[in-house]
Amino acid sequence: MNTGRIVKVAGPLVVAEGLQDANMFDVVRVGKKRLIGEIIEMRGDRASVQVYEETSGIGPGDSVETTGAPLSVELGPGLIETIYDGIQRPLEEIRRAVGSCITRGIEMPSLPREKKWSFEPLAKKGSRVVPGDILGHVRETSIIDHKIMVPHGVSGVLEEILAGEFTVLDTVARIKNESGDTVPVAMMQKWPVRVSRPYIEKLPPLEPVATGQRVIDTLFPIAKGGTAAVPGPFGSGKTVVQHQLAKWSDVDIVVYIGCGERGNEMTDVLREFPELKDPRTGESLMKRTVLIANTSDMPVAAREASVYTGITIAEYFRDMGYAVAVIADSTSRWAEALREMSGRLEEMPGEEGYPAYLSSRMAQFYERAGRVICLGSDNRQGSLTAVGAVSPPGGDFSEPVSQATLRIVKVFWGLDSALAYRRHFPAINWLQSYSLYLDRLSPWYNEKMGRDYLETREKTMRILQNENELDEIVRLVGIDALSPADRVTMETARMVREDFLQQNAFSDTDSYTSYGKQKDLLGLIMNYHDRAMDAVKKNAPLDAVLGIGARDKIARAKDVPENAYKERYAEIIKETAEQLGALTEEGGAAE
Ligand code: ADP
Repeated sequence: MNTGRIVKVAGPLVVAEGLQDANMFDVVRVGKKRLIGEIIEMRGDRASVQVYEETSGIGPGDSVETTGAPLSVELGPGLIETIYDGIQRPLEEIRRAVGSCITRGIEMPSLPREKKWSFEPLAKKGSRVVPGDILGHVRETSIIDHKIMVPHGVSGVLEEILAGEFTVLDTVARIKNESGDTVPVAMMQKWPVRVSRPYIEKLPPLEPVATGQRVIDTLFPIAKGGTAAVPGPFGSGKTVVQHQLAKWSDVDIVVYIGCGERGNEMTDVLREFPELKDPRTGESLMKRTVLIANTSDMPVAAREASVYTGITIAEYFRDMGYAVAVIADSTSRWAEALREMSGRLEEMPGEEGYPAYLSSRMAQFYERAGRVICLGSDNRQGSLTAVGAVSPPGGDFSEPVSQATLRIVKVFWGLDSALAYRRHFPAINWLQSYSLYLDRLSPWYNEKMGRDYLETREKTMRILQNENELDEIVRLVGIDALSPADRVTMETARMVREDFLQQNAFSDTDSYTSYGKQKDLLGLIMNYHDRAMDAVKKNAPLDAVLGIGARDKIARAKDVPENAYKERYAEIIKETAEQLGALTEEGGAAE
C-alpha cells in the first residue's frame, strides 16, 4: 500500500503525487471520506485518478491511498435480483443502511456476507479439477441455478467438498494443487472488470435470439453471442426496444446497464422491472436480471465503470454455460464520460472532442460478446449477447459515437424519428437497418422454421424496397401512373408495414410473437400478394382486389392469440382465395 498527496482536483479528476508504487487501474481511496477512485494515468509518481463519487470538499494536500488492486467485482450467489451502482455497490442495501442518499465513501460488500446458501456438491472428492470445472450449485432464485466453479488459477485434486448451508466466504471445497498446497475454495470469486474472463474457444454464432419482436426476428435477427446497436434520437423508442429485449429474449440471464439517459429514466427501470413478469416462467423478471444503475447523484465517471462491471458479471454467468444478454442504455452517455475525463486529462482531442481511443474502448466492450466453449473440462457452451443503445444528438448517425459503434457491431436497428412521429413502432427503419448474421443463421432458420422462412423474408424485403422506388414515382406523377401490379405491390408493402412490422409493446397479444406466428402472419400477407397479383393479371378490377373483406381480417391477425392463430389464419387464407377467385371469374366473364 502506498499513500500520496493530492496536488490538484478538477471535478471527478484528482491528481496526486508520491504514488510511485501504484499501478495503472489500481483502485484508490481519496481523502478522509475515502472516496472510491481508479488510477487512469501514471506519470512517474504522479497519478491521475478518476473518482467515482462527488469530489466536493476534497483538496490539495489530502491523502490518496492505493489499495494495490484493480477495480474488481464480486462474483457469486446474490448477484441476481440485485440493483448495483456502477462500482457494484448494492443500492437497496445501502438505502436500508443509510437512507436514500448514498453516503460518500461508503463501503458495503457487493454480495451479502451473512446470507447462507444451500450448496449442493456435484464434483467428486478425489477427482482432478481445472479452472471452470463445476464444483457444485446453489439455487439462487426459483429459475437460476448458480454454478460454483473452480476459480481461475487453481487446479489439482479435490481433497474435500462439503454440502450444506454456507455464506459466500465459507470454504466449500479444498483443492490440493500441483505444488502440494491445499487451496480453500469459497463460493465468491473476484474479477478485475477491465480484464475479460477467459474461455477455451470462441465459436461462430449459429442460433438467433428469439426476441418475439417481428421486425427483429424476421428481418434483422441477432445471434446468441452477437452484437447489436440501437441508435435513435430522443423519443424514437430506444428504451421500449431495450425493455422488450430484456423482457422477451430467450436468454437465461439479462444484465441491464442503465447509463442514465435522462434524470429519471433509471428510476423508471427500477420501478418497472421488478413488476414485469417473465413470460416463460411467470415469475418476476428480476429473477433472471442484474441491474446496474447509475443514479443521478453519481458523477459521470461512474458510467465508465458501470459498463465494465456489467459485462464482467455477464461473462461470469456465461462461464456457467448460460445464454446471457447485456443491454447497455445508453453507450453515448458512457462515451460522454470518456470525453469529459479525456478533456480534464488534457489529452489530444479527436473528432467532436471525443478521445482518439473512443472506438477501441467501444470495441473492447463489444468484443467481450460471443458464443464460447467455457473454461472447464465438460465442454459446455455459453453465450454473451451485447446490445447497446446509442443516442446521437439530433438523430444524426454520422456523429462519432454512432460511427464507432457501427464499425463494430453486426446488427444495426436504426430508429427513425419520422416513423416514431407517424407512430410506427418499433420505429426500426427497414431500409437502413441490417443484420450481418443472416448467412450464419440461415441453416438454423431452414432447419427449424422451414426453407420458406427466409425465402419469404427475402421477398418481403424486395417488396419494401420496391415500395420505396415506387413512392418516388408516385411523388412525381401520382398514384394513377402505376400499373395494377405496382399498385398491388404498394398495398402489400403497406400491409407488411402496418400489419406485420408495427408491433405494440403495450398490448398483451401483440407484445410478443413466436417464430411460428411470425412466419404464418407474414405468410397471410404474401398469400394475399401472390393471389392479388394473379387476379390483376387476369384483369380483375383493381379496386375490388384491393378492397376484399379478408384484408380487414389480415389487419387484425396479429392480435390473434398464440394458441388460436393456426386455425384463424387457415380460415383467412381460404377466404382470401375465395374472394379473389370470385373476382377473376367475374373479370373473366366480363371480357
Ligand atoms: P427513447 O428512449 O428513444 O427516448 P422511448 O423508448 O421512451 O424513446 O419511446 C418513446 C415513446 O414511444 C414511448 O413512451 C411509447 O409511447 C412509444 N413507443 C415506443 N415503442 C413503442 C412500441 N413498440 N409500441 C408502442 N409504443 C411505443
